[in-house]
Amino acid sequence: MDKLLRVNMTDLKVTDEPFPEEWTFLGGRGLTAKILLKEVDPTCDPLGPGNKVVIAPGVLSGSMAPTSGRMSVGAKSPLTGGIKEANSGGQAGQKLMRLGYRAIIVEGKAKDPEKRYLLVVNKQGYELKECPELKMLRTYAASEKLAETFSQRAAFILCGPAGELGLSGASVAFTDEGHRHPARHAARGGLGAAMGAKGLKAIAVDDEGTQARMPKDMKAFKELIARISKEYKAGPQLFQYGTSTTVPLANMMSTFPTRNRRMMQFDKADQLDGMKLVQNFATRGGGMHHCMTGCIVSCSNIIHDEAGQYVTSALEFETLALCGSNCEIGDLDKVAKIDRLCDDLGLDTIETGGAIGLAMDCGALPFGDADAAIALLDKLDKGDPLAETIGRGVVAVGKRFNAERVPAIRGQGIPAWEPRTLNATGITYATSAMGADHTAGLIVVPPNDAALASQNAQLINALCDSSGFCQFQQPTIEDIRTLYNLMYGGALTFEDAAELGWQCMVDEWEFNKRAGFGPEDNDLPAWMRTEAIPSNGAVFAVSKEEIMRVFERMPISDELRTMRAVG
Ligand code: SF4
Repeated sequence: MDKLLRVNMTDLKVTDEPFPEEWTFLGGRGLTAKILLKEVDPTCDPLGPGNKVVIAPGVLSGSMAPTSGRMSVGAKSPLTGGIKEANSGGQAGQKLMRLGYRAIIVEGKAKDPEKRYLLVVNKQGYELKECPELKMLRTYAASEKLAETFSQRAAFILCGPAGELGLSGASVAFTDEGHRHPARHAARGGLGAAMGAKGLKAIAVDDEGTQARMPKDMKAFKELIARISKEYKAGPQLFQYGTSTTVPLANMMSTFPTRNRRMMQFDKADQLDGMKLVQNFATRGGGMHHCMTGCIVSCSNIIHDEAGQYVTSALEFETLALCGSNCEIGDLDKVAKIDRLCDDLGLDTIETGGAIGLAMDCGALPFGDADAAIALLDKLDKGDPLAETIGRGVVAVGKRFNAERVPAIRGQGIPAWEPRTLNATGITYATSAMGADHTAGLIVVPPNDAALASQNAQLINALCDSSGFCQFQQPTIEDIRTLYNLMYGGALTFEDAAELGWQCMVDEWEFNKRAGFGPEDNDLPAWMRTEAIPSNGAVFAVSKEEIMRVFERMPISDELRTMRAVG
């Protein structure tokens, strides 16, 4: 029988309880939303004992379904003050599900703020123990130290110094397949700070002695995943060389933030083209790999420097945009170093790049000065006040410098995908409980009905983020609901599965309403309605009435029946 694992950091007690049967089709993001709405006072201090950090694999994680081991982390966000879910690849999701745990709920707060704890979960059970040797270690050093103790099968979940310092741009790191680098992150919304505030430094998940979760209907399940894999391989495989190869397209479309979004095209965009990273594999080493077992997309690039030494992995489009062009840094190797530093400190690269770009705009350091940015970040865990402000994110930098033009929505820095150029994506940013988060529902091709397109994209992505599938696998609702039925012996219809995605959004909106958010918060910063992008003249031009349509469930459209999750 599946279980929930409850970790009380105040009493230092760990218990398990049966996973409610009525929640069988809840996992990942949908499960984090359900638990947070049920158990957390939305007005609580995000860094206080009343907040809870819920770590939940998807419904299909641990099974043979391809690319389905994603893991969600949810809590009240220290960055936005609302509910937040961020999900990550890496190995822990598959392993936790193979051990039969549908979620870990971390509650309370260590009484002694100087102490750090490690949770160990394996086939023998679970244990919470002190880990003074990991205190304030950067994530790579902490993972290496953990690797000395645990078997090669163990995966680690951990926060870096940014999380331990309570910085609201902090991420939760997950070790990846094979190398066990802490290079995969549930990055957005400061969830690393929520984890760090509890005194929980790391979780080790070892699935030694377990096997893949078996579907109720093995034959049909195997046939379906074979078809899904075949169709994927026969398709365009958009992410086979990673998201970083999107740079030329984004630049052409005027959605490549430059100089703190004063421009949306970068004159050195060709120097940040991810295909250069791919070409470098031949001389430097590295290559494409999958961050978790069972992924058939393999979008993760492993980046080496000129000397052939490993630097970082998964240098993504968003990182190249926010830490590169947005700061007018047109040098792949320098952006790779910033990415590594962010991963090592446990920081969200989108929030951090947005914060550095704004600090540059305010004159704190020169645009284009990569070395100054690297040196500043490197001081984050050494008590430097400006570095700490950067680690608190875009809004914190705006407050420090009294900036008028702050690129954030509901407290969260705006991703590369630009809402003035892509108005329908702007509707997602304005209405999603997640704030400015492209993974909530990205729309790149201008639709006929922008509000409907945003609602559909948000619904399918909420379901995808609950299933364990990676958005880059781009599953349909039909695929997800059929696999659910074959896995658990259910009888979900298409409408039932769509309702699971919608209910996740409703739970999140309800949490935010109880936290104090109102209709006035469902908009973009005023300057985005008046300041035109120089290269295409675009502004955000969606009426408030149109934005509000997203909150009313629209009838299931033909488009939703065939559309794919959007990564
Ligand atoms: S597609 Fe990329 S991000 Fe998704 S699981 Fe595979 S390697 Fe990880």
